[in-house]
Amino acid sequence: MNLAKSILQGKEVTKDTLLKIYEDREIDTLDLLNEAYTLRKHYFGKKVKLNMILNAKSGICPENCGYCGQSRDMKQKQRYALVPEEQIIEGAKVAHDNNIGTYCIVMSGRGPSNKEIDHISKAVEEIKLNHPQLKICACLGLTNDEQAKKLKASGIDRYNHNINTSENYHKEVVTTHTYKDRTDTIEIMKKHNISPCSGVICGMGESSQDIVDMAFALKEIDADSIPINFLHPIKGTKFGEMDELTPMKCLRLISIFRLVNPSKEIRIAGGREINLRSLQPLALKAANSIFVGDYLITGGQPNKLDYKMIEDLGFEVDFGNNEMAGTRE
Ligand code: SF4
Repeated sequence: MNLAKSILQGKEVTKDTLLKIYEDREIDTLDLLNEAYTLRKHYFGKKVKLNMILNAKSGICPENCGYCGQSRDMKQKQRYALVPEEQIIEGAKVAHDNNIGTYCIVMSGRGPSNKEIDHISKAVEEIKLNHPQLKICACLGLTNDEQAKKLKASGIDRYNHNINTSENYHKEVVTTHTYKDRTDTIEIMKKHNISPCSGVICGMGESSQDIVDMAFALKEIDADSIPINFLHPIKGTKFGEMDELTPMKCLRLISIFRLVNPSKEIRIAGGREINLRSLQPLALKAANSIFVGDYLITGGQPNKLDYKMIEDLGFEVDFGNNEMAGTRE
């Protein structure tokens, strides 16, 4: 196929070409994965970045995202307001003690209030004093200039706001905010020199064209970090009965994201365990980053299994100097 080689030589691969490759069943998924691996190896060697999530506020959300167990349409068991600063700071210590590179503070909801921004900013200032090496990513929803400015001043390194799906398929996923609302927030972060993290959720009924469109949209946004979530269907949500992913399909689509975004941090995120199952380690041939521990409202596998998986594969945890790919400073 020699796709990786021509990408490394700086040749553009078009959307049409990648769509054909993605859909061509004559092209073996493992061969495609090897192309992705050539790129991953070129930019990241065998290093794996680790990330850990704190679910800092759960449920109580007015939005109607069709995949989300915290949406207004769901009866949530796990509902709580923003946790105290001490808990955010304590979570960072756990992350630090587990050699985690990036600590992700995540809040449910359409977007944070100014009070919530102040609360999180204060906690981040304290974390940065205690653990200056630890990178901090906030995922708080739709934001504005003023809020981004405060977050930047507090020491936030990165902001996550996923595009989630393609622009074309967005209205099938959520109707209470637009695709543009999402990309606007990412642009605000870039304007304030906060590293943009934006990714997708696959397996929500999107087409192959949507998959390829998402990969190119993230290239255009210039996201430094790209989490790829695989739908973990939650009963009662719009996509609660959806079951269209197989481990091989996950490997195929993650390879496409690497081919389009060769030098970016690509993370296997939520739904990794149930969708990739025994093929989880293979996904690290395309991705160079994982979440360790639990996700927002679904459990992950125990940390030690993740460390073991990395070791068994002959890969190593990126303890390094914790530089962020493409960091904007
Ligand atoms: S994904 Fe975020 S915005 Fe959407 S329903 Fe869930 S918590 Fe609300």
